[in-house]
Amino acid sequence: MKRNLQLYNSLKREKETFVPLHETHVGMYVCGPTVYSDVHLGNCRTFMSFDIIYRYLMYCGYKVRYVRNITDVGHLLDDGEDRILKGARLQQLEPMEVVQKYSNGFHDMMRLFNTLEPSIEPRATGHIVEQIELVQQIIDNGYGYEINGSVYFDTPKFATQTGEYGKLSGRVIEELVSESRDNLKNQDEKRHPSDFAIWMKAAPEHIMKWNSPWSVGFPGWHLECSAMSTKYLGNQFDIHGGGNDLKFPHHENEIAQNVSSCGCQPARYWLHTNMLLLNGKKMSKSDGNSISPVELITGDSEHISKAYSPMVVKFFMLQAHYSAPLDLSDEGLLAAEKGFKRLMDAIKSLNKLFSTVGAGNLDNELKAMADAALTEMDDDFSTPKALAKLFELVPKINSLADGKISINEVSTEAIQYIQKIVNDLVFNVFGLKDEQDGQHSAVDGLMELILNIRQKARENKDWGTSDQIRDGLKAAGIVVKDSKEGSAWVYE
Ligand code: AMP
Ligand code: ZN
Repeated sequence: MKRNLQLYNSLKREKETFVPLHETHVGMYVCGPTVYSDVHLGNCRTFMSFDIIYRYLMYCGYKVRYVRNITDVGHLLDDGEDRILKGARLQQLEPMEVVQKYSNGFHDMMRLFNTLEPSIEPRATGHIVEQIELVQQIIDNGYGYEINGSVYFDTPKFATQTGEYGKLSGRVIEELVSESRDNLKNQDEKRHPSDFAIWMKAAPEHIMKWNSPWSVGFPGWHLECSAMSTKYLGNQFDIHGGGNDLKFPHHENEIAQNVSSCGCQPARYWLHTNMLLLNGKKMSKSDGNSISPVELITGDSEHISKAYSPMVVKFFMLQAHYSAPLDLSDEGLLAAEKGFKRLMDAIKSLNKLFSTVGAGNLDNELKAMADAALTEMDDDFSTPKALAKLFELVPKINSLADGKISINEVSTEAIQYIQKIVNDLVFNVFGLKDEQDGQHSAVDGLMELILNIRQKARENKDWGTSDQIRDGLKAAGIVVKDSKEGSAWVYE
């Protein structure tokens, strides 16, 4: 079922009809997390958005190769320290322990929000050879130069000769002077402040470093995505995604590297998600303005009045378009909780509807309402508008379920048609789960019982029993979080 998809292409700054390079296959690359600390909810929003895009492309019948990398080297902080190395220094861990720990944590969060695994999840440190080859190609083509063992990208030369620099971010070279986020330490070495490092010579005490023709060092951050997208998706592929904070310098420089090495734009469509805000400001851990998924689902945060389930959080996010900013608030989550329950209840009723008539007066109207939800998804994956269309169906479903509208108004075929679209969209494309379904409530009931016993033990200062329960649950893969309001649990 090929549909007429319209995508907002950040590179062109307009909506375009999606025409994949190969009729049946789609290649999509999304910049993954830098695994030096726990992911926050803003990161989760971006990856949930691309998960829905991935799922909808598959729903439309495409075979999708979805590549989402793990950044485990080269992403420097403003002071020039590698994020992974800082994590290792502060926690007294091996860099690869840091990478493993936070990759695991990231995957746990992705599972919590019921997102699918990408087809390939390559790591930057696993692709050093490819990155060194790319640096060499850039040098050979005249767009890279070496100074003191580091290699820089010659941005002004690339900009003048190709006219391709700044197209994505809308920046011009003059604006970029001294704005470059990477490697400020070596600013003096570069020929021009907008040049960026593609290979960096490592100081003797630097831990993560590799041999190269230029020095023992490590790759620049932007390089990994150019190397890995090319390796797994080819010189040109369909979709490249990431948060809009990555447009510059990361994506702009990625394009420059690809164009200068192979002569073509890597991706035909660039999709950018917008930021999750908390109290009107970008959610960011370094500014202390963040809430973690675990805090949200345990209610253990000053920003919220109660715990919210992962599916309520996901539903809350679906109510905004991926390209619009979204401000997280307690009121918004409370409203989402009600809306989510209403939708789940309606779907339960829908799935029980049973008609024996061959044709009904309402067939066309109801089928058109379900179709309309899909049409909204065709329009740049508009989850809020698709949900709005589903909510137009809800009162009709409820009326059919409670007999206010006779079931004879709808045919067997129409009911099955609507059931299929609604279930596919809500469960397979949005990846929502009914948290009240049988299996889940049995676990919930058991957990409530166990946590009550533990609470009694705590009240009696029976710390042995309380700890035994907590440790036993941990061994079973369940973490208990204690807060003022009581105890909550999450899968580890
Ligand atoms: P990082 O680990 O910082 O490289 O970020 C991983 C992904 O999360 C990138 O695509 C970022 O653009 C995205 N991201 C970071 N902060 C936010 C936020 N507040 N809202 C939405 N996406 C974000
Ligand atoms: Zn990237």
